[in-house]
Parts: sequence; structure tokens; C-alpha cells
Amino acid sequence: MAVSENPTTLPVRQGRNLDDVRRSNLAAVLGAVHVQGRVSRADLARATGLNRSTIGILVAELVERGLVDEVEPSSTRLAGRPSPSVVPREDVVALAVNPEIDAVTIGLVSLSGRVHKRIRYDTAHVPSPDEVVNIVAAVVAGMSGELDRSFRTVGVGLAVPGLVRDGDGVVILGPHLGWKDVPIAAMLSEALSLPVAAANDASTGVMAEYTFGVGRGTQNLIYLNGGASGIGGGVAIDGMLLTGSSGFAGEFGHSLVNSAGVLCHCGAIGCLETEVSQAPLLDTLGLDSTGSEQLESVLLGQFSREGGPEREILDLVHRQLDFLAVALRGVVNMFNPELVLLGGFLGTLYAAAPERLEAGVRTRALVGPRDDVRFARAELGADLLLVGAAQLAFAPILADPASFGAAASPAAER
Ligand SMILES: [Zn+2]
Repeated sequence: MAVSENPTTLPVRQGRNLDDVRRSNLAAVLGAVHVQGRVSRADLARATGLNRSTIGILVAELVERGLVDEVEPSSTRLAGRPSPSVVPREDVVALAVNPEIDAVTIGLVSLSGRVHKRIRYDTAHVPSPDEVVNIVAAVVAGMSGELDRSFRTVGVGLAVPGLVRDGDGVVILGPHLGWKDVPIAAMLSEALSLPVAAANDASTGVMAEYTFGVGRGTQNLIYLNGGASGIGGGVAIDGMLLTGSSGFAGEFGHSLVNSAGVLCHCGAIGCLETEVSQAPLLDTLGLDSTGSEQLESVLLGQFSREGGPEREILDLVHRQLDFLAVALRGVVNMFNPELVLLGGFLGTLYAAAPERLEAGVRTRALVGPRDDVRFARAELGADLLLVGAAQLAFAPILADPASFGAAASPAAER
């Protein structure tokens, strides 16, 4: 099937005929409601450049298709006729899946970006692709009554720690999972009879923060995520996610930060993810490998206590932040971002001693780029990857809301 190329974010009034115009306008309106959560018709008119009567017709169609609701305005602080607000329907949901080396996390995420359910299934060992499919299928089967009763599930999005090929969701390489050329999207799609889209976990993270988190409204941002299995990243430039020719862009974890460092699984020496990793932090704090959820409170507790953290912990945190600063210096010089966002344990490290990282970048990056950049922790916390993965599943509907309707199948062409 021919799919029209449409790389812009808000393609208002670009269609070739009336139906195309209607469809792209529907997408513009739904996109604005999706991102803003609750928006008046007047603000929709402003955001899309369409007149209010057209907005009324488009909103009515989105209501009929079951994608949005109209609700009474929450406040009447302004005199005059209040405009009803448009909100995304909470019962339109995607399943989000994040396989990691120690667990498979499954979420139920609504079109508004809200996580209704989050189930973490701990695994005794690194899960194989078949085990991930079985775990997800079992969890979904367990929820099936509720799903059928209360939700309409549009599809599944997968956030995978590894290189994922754009288009078919094949994991080319998941080094920590030990996966190679795994057609995980197709496997899961067959098991669940739902469309499945997959992408690199950090790319989904940047998408989530860019849409709903602290990066909202930022055109140029860099995101680095630290997970149990290493460091990944994503880059948004001029509001577009940088993918590279096959979707592999943003592998900051393999930047050289220590020429006297240790051998990385990628074959190089002194990569960021071998010098900056979660395992020694857990070790030093006396937490075992399942302690990643406690890392934040234990580490920040050390830094906020009187007299500061133990010497060994302080040294380790400083050492890791200094190597992170080396990588970020290069990133800041190359991309001139407005915002560098740190997620996962990198966000925890940064929160422990923000001045150490900022000074490490600012004293060494070039004068121009270093003055433009600010640093922040990813805001969505534990929900980040689930919200980002769900975005993959919502993408076809957001691109063409007319493909979703009461009777229509939400099956997605990708
Ligand atoms: Zn490497």
C-alpha cells in the first residue's frame, strides 16, 4: 500500500483533495488534544489555525470515533460564553512493554499519556524473546476481562534496550539481553493478535519527554537514559527525532570517555557505559541487582544526610559524573541542544551532585553551546519508557484519526 510521505508534525491544510484536508486537519486537532490533555475549542483554533466552526465539525467527528470527549470547562474565570474543553478518551489505550535484563514491565497507557496499570514481572535470569512473549501474553490474558470491558486497545509498543530496526521492529542487537536478529514485534503481534511496533528504549524515552515531560516545547534536546543494561540516548533536532538511516542514531553509550578504560562488549575500550554504570553504584550502596528501584532513595539519602555521603560513595559518584561530563561535552558541542535530559540512574546520579556534572561540562565545552544548554532530570520517572512505548502504538491513529472508528479495525500499517 502506498503511504504518503508526511514528515511534518502539524500538516494542516496540505492535502491534495477534500478528504486529505479533512484527515490532516483531524490529525492536527487530535495531536493538539493528545499533547495538551485538556484544551478548549478556542485554543484548538489558535493551535491549528483553523476557524472555530471547522474545529466544531472536526471535534464532533473525533467524538463520534470515540477518540475524544467534550467536557464543561473547569473554570469560568473569564466573563462571556465559556468554551467546552476537549479531552482525550481514557478508554483508548495501548499496551506498552519494556523487557530488561531483570524484568519485563507491562503497562496500560491511555491516549492522554496516563499510565493506568504498571506490572513489573521480575525474572530470575535475562529473559529470552520467547519468555518475553509468554510473559506478556500471560499478563494480557490475565487482564483480558478488564480490557474487553473497559478499554479499546489500539496496539502494542515495545521499548527495547538494543538496536531496533525502524519499520519491522526487528532487534538487530540487544547486547545485554543477548538477543540478535530477533523479530520481536512480529512474534508478539502473532501472540496477541494486535499490531506491535518496537523501538530503542532511549528513543521512546525522548519521545515521551518531548511529548509529555520536561522537554515539552523544546525543539533541540538530547536525552540519555541509564538502565540496568547500559546507556542509550535520543536526539531531537528542530522538533524531529533523529533516527539515522536505519533508526540506530543516538548510541551515546559507546562514546569514548576513557582511553585507559576497560573493554566494552562492543569491542571498543573505555565506552561511556562501561565507565558509568548502575552495578557498582548498587554494589557500593549494599543493594543487590533487584535494588534499582531503591537506588534513588538510598543514594540521595546519602547525599542529603549531615556530613554528606561516605567517602567511597562520593568518590564513585564523582568519578561517574566526570566521565558522563566528558561524553556530554562532545554531545553539547556537536548538537548545540537547549536541554540535556537525564533519565534512569543517570537522573539519580545527576540529582546527587548536579553542580559536579554542570561544572564538568561548562568548563570544557565550547563557549557558545555551553551557554545555551540547561540540564534536567527526565520527569516521567518510572513511567517514562511505558509512555514512550505507547506513543509507538498510537502513532498510526495520531497520523490518521479517520483510520480509527467504532467499527473500524485499528490495525496499523507500519
Ligand atoms: Zn562500547
